[in-house]
Amino acid sequence: MSEATVIGLGEMGAALAGALVRSGRSVTVWNRTGAKAEQLVREGAALAPSAAAAVHASPVVVVCVSDYAATRALMETKEVAAALAGRTLIQLSTGTPREARDAEAWALRHGAAYLDGAILAWPRQIGGADTVILASGARATYQRSEALLKTLAGGITYMGEAIGSSSALFAAVLSYLAGRWISLCHGALICEAEGLSVASFGAMLASLAPILGADARHMGDVIEKGTYANPESALKTAGSDIGRLVQQAEEANINAEFPRFAAALFRRAIDAGHGAEEHAALIKVLRA
Ligand code: NAP
Repeated sequence: MSEATVIGLGEMGAALAGALVRSGRSVTVWNRTGAKAEQLVREGAALAPSAAAAVHASPVVVVCVSDYAATRALMETKEVAAALAGRTLIQLSTGTPREARDAEAWALRHGAAYLDGAILAWPRQIGGADTVILASGARATYQRSEALLKTLAGGITYMGEAIGSSSALFAAVLSYLAGRWISLCHGALICEAEGLSVASFGAMLASLAPILGADARHMGDVIEKGTYANPESALKTAGSDIGRLVQQAEEANINAEFPRFAAALFRRAIDAGHGAEEHAALIKVLRA
């Protein structure tokens, strides 16, 4: 027996397996495309001949493939399901809360303990002291697996027994990132149109990180407490500034999809009577 098995050796799975091997643990690996295991085998991992053999090899099985559909394709065969009984399955592929609930129910039905995780890091950060992986599942299962998970992410964060919590928070963070990625690219278009350095724009955003972080904390607090009144900066002010982004895009002849989308949302909130409230009152029109 090895201490842990890692199934899925894409960019992330290989990083997870590599961190476990480098921590001195005995590790078995398996990947659909076997060639991706070669480097890990050179570093000391054992390569299993099949997914079922990989599950057999360890009491803890970490799965990190593209998504839950790929996990099901791998795990829901008679051989693999039988091998899982008595083991702990740690799912680190990205999925939705409902997929996490279904996966837990499936694992429990097959006699396996189950943890559902979400990785808030790039592969190169795996194994770092500050790296965050969120984990949900039965407390006793988490406690048994915590030392191993800490090897993968020093900032491992237990989200409690509600199995969908990790994927839900991951989705919330991804939503935030999606907005940032689109808005950064639109900002870059503005810089290019006016001959400004896009790299300097990126660097400036990095220097604003503490302020932007404080804004995120403030908005979360306002929404949770419902304290939208007496804003320092009113929604209508931001809305009119964002409306000007559409004007700027048209004047510069650059793509205006993102500012049009953002301006329309703010317009709806103003028209619904929330102009004098906090920016966070935008959520009221998203809820409607
Ligand atoms: P990737 O490099 O594209 O690797 C995908 C992995 O899934 C490969 O091992 C692939 O096997 C396997 N796979 C896909 N479909 C399969 C199937 N039907 N049967 C068996 N194996 C299958 O992706 P990745 O970056 O490692 O991401 C893996 C997971 O980590 C994803 O859920 C992703 O959201 C999550 N994640 C990744 C990052 C990141 O920065 N990369 C960050 C956070 C979370 P083959 O090698 O045979 O194709």
